[in-house]
Amino acid sequence: MQQIAIFGGTFDPIHWGHLLIAEAAMAQISMEQLIWVPSINPPHKQATAFEHRLAMLKLATRNNPAFTVSIIEKESVGNSYAINTLINLSALYPNTHWYWIIGLDAFQTLPRWYCGIELAQMCDWLIAPRPAGAETISQSESVCKQVEQKFKEKSNTINWQLLNTPLVRVSSSKIREFCRLGVSIKNLVPESVRLYISTHQLYSDNPE
Ligand code: ATP
Repeated sequence: MQQIAIFGGTFDPIHWGHLLIAEAAMAQISMEQLIWVPSINPPHKQATAFEHRLAMLKLATRNNPAFTVSIIEKESVGNSYAINTLINLSALYPNTHWYWIIGLDAFQTLPRWYCGIELAQMCDWLIAPRPAGAETISQSESVCKQVEQKFKEKSNTINWQLLNTPLVRVSSSKIREFCRLGVSIKNLVPESVRLYISTHQLYSDNPE
């Protein structure tokens, strides 16, 4: 059985934090492929046009042959819930053991996702520690255990492990803010992404 990881997100824009997490997941789990899944209509977020986010993802991931970018959320009919994404990908990649890569902040919200209980059991969870709410790795671990406890209270299980990454403070919102303020984003995103942002004047009139 092959092993594949899904990394879903808004990626508005993709940044070095995302790439570091993806590389850490590949190093930690021996998997054939990592599928990046940009969300089409992220709930509670005003996102940049899908085509721009997709183009930046492709630029940033093109050098790793194990990375694939999927437009499954764009193609699917109806709501782009995570559980539908996994079901649709399972049809394309049968006989697969699935992993889902997620930051600690998003993992905390999993019990409230649409069909979160069912989804939780359809894959193993690879959790990237994130400074928000947990300043150390051991704090991250106890936050994960609290989430696990919520599933246990409803007699459900969830398989998870923390990714072996340092806490990375970069976020897409910080990058968008830096662009608005005219602060350089040079070390926060791959150069190809920085040039794309600049060429297409995303996030400000003059990103640098
Ligand atoms: P925004 O700042 O706009 O909310 P973001 O930086 O969180 O964006 P997303 O595309 O929404 O980026 O994130 C996709 C996934 O990657 C989420 O699960 C998120 O928790 C995780 N993630 C993003 N940045 C980091 C980071 N620096 N450390 C750990 N996880 C991260």
